[in-house]
Amino acid sequence: MSVKENLNGIKKNLPPTVTLVAVSKTKPDAVIQEAYETGHRVFGENKVQEMTQKWERLPKDIAWHMIGHVQRNKVKYMAQYVSLIHGVDSIRLLAEIDKQAKKHHRTIDVLLQMHIAEEETKFGLDREELNHILSSEEFKQMRNINLRGLMGMATFTKDKAQIRKEFQHLKKCFEETRQKHPEIDTLSMGMSGDHHIAVEEGSTMVRIGSSIFGARN
Ligand SMILES: *Cc1c(COP(=O)(O)O)cnc(C)c1O
Repeated sequence: MSVKENLNGIKKNLPPTVTLVAVSKTKPDAVIQEAYETGHRVFGENKVQEMTQKWERLPKDIAWHMIGHVQRNKVKYMAQYVSLIHGVDSIRLLAEIDKQAKKHHRTIDVLLQMHIAEEETKFGLDREELNHILSSEEFKQMRNINLRGLMGMATFTKDKAQIRKEFQHLKKCFEETRQKHPEIDTLSMGMSGDHHIAVEEGSTMVRIGSSIFGARN
């Protein structure tokens, strides 16, 4: 199957309320261009340098999403163009994004990443840390940050009940957050292996790589 067929097949089965982020990390420009030609415009990368090189070379109407863990010293390289940063998990990173966004006279959309998986290696906040950030004076003063919602990654397991439970937990955190921040509208959860469950549990944004572009090296 071609990239175009994969992309169209996935889109056909997603509710219209769910945004598809085509995760193009490690994939060459030509492959991204192929997806672009179907009309798709939202792509996700997990390394700032790689994303910036692709932004420079590829059409400027692509919305680039940073889905990986971000080091603070890399924010400046994407502040001019990044469309949404998914993996924000500290007030210090938020402060840096706010500062760099201001330099470019823009506001940057962000998602706060929650730790929902069993694995300790996955980044993210717990509920307490989330509430601590949201209620902090420092966060309230950030004029160039636009909080859009939450993101999370389920445990890498074949146990579907566990994945579902983790997504339900994230959805609950999202609804709780929305009570105080009714403007948030994005819940980024679901990848190639688990996006069906994620959508059933209320995802509004799925990040899909290998099911569109094939396995990565
Ligand atoms: C790579 C990646 C994805 C996509 O993974 P696939 O299994 O290839 O769909 C989604 N989210 C994040 C954060 C990733 O790093």
